[in-house]
Amino acid sequence: MDSSQEESKLHVLMVSFPGQGHINPLLRLAKCLASKGLSITFTTTANVGKMLENSNKSITETTAIGSGDLRFEFFSDGWEDDDPRRHDLGLLVPQIESSGRDFITRFITQHAQDHNRRPVSCIINNAFIPWVVDVATEHGIPSAVLWVQSIAVYSVYYHYFHKLASFPTPEDHHASTKIPGLPPLDFDEIPSFLHPSSPYVSLQNAILEQFKNLSKAFRVLVDSFDELEHEQIKIVSSNLPASITTTPLGQFHEQDLERSEIKCTRLLAPSSSNAEGAFEDNKTSTLSAPITPVGPLIKFSTGNEAVRADMWSAADECLTWLDSHPPSSVVYVSFGSVVSLSEEQLAEMAFGLLDAGVPFLWSFRPPFTKHESHSGLPEEFLEHVNHYKKKCLIVKWAPQDHVLAHPSVACFVTHCGWNSTLESLSSGVPVVAFPQWGDQVTDAKFLADVFGVGVRLVRSCEDLKNLSRGDVERCIREVTSGEKAEEMRKNALKWRKAAEDAVAPGGSSDRNVEAFVDEIKSLAR
Ligand code: UDP
Repeated sequence: MDSSQEESKLHVLMVSFPGQGHINPLLRLAKCLASKGLSITFTTTANVGKMLENSNKSITETTAIGSGDLRFEFFSDGWEDDDPRRHDLGLLVPQIESSGRDFITRFITQHAQDHNRRPVSCIINNAFIPWVVDVATEHGIPSAVLWVQSIAVYSVYYHYFHKLASFPTPEDHHASTKIPGLPPLDFDEIPSFLHPSSPYVSLQNAILEQFKNLSKAFRVLVDSFDELEHEQIKIVSSNLPASITTTPLGQFHEQDLERSEIKCTRLLAPSSSNAEGAFEDNKTSTLSAPITPVGPLIKFSTGNEAVRADMWSAADECLTWLDSHPPSSVVYVSFGSVVSLSEEQLAEMAFGLLDAGVPFLWSFRPPFTKHESHSGLPEEFLEHVNHYKKKCLIVKWAPQDHVLAHPSVACFVTHCGWNSTLESLSSGVPVVAFPQWGDQVTDAKFLADVFGVGVRLVRSCEDLKNLSRGDVERCIREVTSGEKAEEMRKNALKWRKAAEDAVAPGGSSDRNVEAFVDEIKSLAR
């Protein structure tokens, strides 16, 4: 690259909510954009930044990626390192807003005024920090959003927020929900925060707040791909939905959809809890920027595998341990970065794994606080693991993307966070779905019933009290041996191929990323 190209590199600021499931997809997008020649600054809060730097030395310096580059810069959320308020989302979300607004404003101003730095041409943020779009708008900078859950889940929240479908109510807890392009969802298959009995009010608020700002961004990118969620993409990218006033719930047709602009009219559904007063009849409004699938971001090859953002050090021994096992023989277990189980639930899971009689690798995240409920696994189980090291390995954090891509892995016992879901699909690994809350329950439904790659061990955290080692054993057997397992494996391999095709040069997501980069360039002029 000559010096004039170097100078003309556009600078994109990417702002992440400080959680592993948020950072991973945004960083994958950052690497992808850098590989296309953009200069990226990636930011999140300093306390998580410290964890990232401790676990991934490569992120302390600017890294060249393709013809672009990537650097990290963190901002303080204003609290002491061990402040327990961070574990209360209702407190954390507004706290990040006040410190984050100041940081971004200062960052933009400094980069605009200092000739030795590149001015910010575009800002991209992910979930839970929708105010970033406002800061961008105040400074006249175009902004885009990365939605980090499935398009199906986007559609459910969208319908809820804009009061376009009926959901379970305090009077009818068990109502099912019908949304165009999706299978009917039972009360325990909608994202659990929308259920009237959900205790997670601040989580619901944080999620729904995002929908207030989606029309101000110029694009909503999604870590999904056309082949996986074709119907949902077709419907949401047509900018949901037109003229549904007198249409019975769940029965409007494609011809009702219009591009770019929505004629949203109040949904007349007597049983709907939230159908009142959403819009005045025939009022026209644009409710979201265009939705564009750019995933699975994990599959884009950016030539720089070393840049990772694990909050805990990933145990490399996992891969050598997997090397010592035959193809499709190991069960990988992980419940992501947030979920924690009680000692009773852990014991059922642990002994169920032993009873299944297959080798397993369990990623068992360290507790966030000393009060976190999982203090440990049963002694008897740990003794067994120590004794049979060849057959069982427990680590604090695994390089999950590499683990799932390893040929020895036969099955993934997962909590069904969207990243884990997408990673298993794009690695061709069938799952035992073990969802707890939020979008996990919807992802589990899709994994089992729509994508055909797994079985559900539980449907939601309501079922946890009945979790039994017998069920754990049965589900693992079902996914790893027999005719049904073969069918799931075939489906999983089909999704892996589709994911590879989507990100290959000229594939659906690759074209979308290219078009997005062109859009950033044209908006910067
Ligand atoms: N992950 C990992 N190592 C582990 C467990 C999880 O690298 O031992 C990663 C996983 O690959 C995924 C992310 O952490 O990218 C978790 O995101 P997900 O959406 O699945 O769940 P969340 O943690 O947000 O509940």
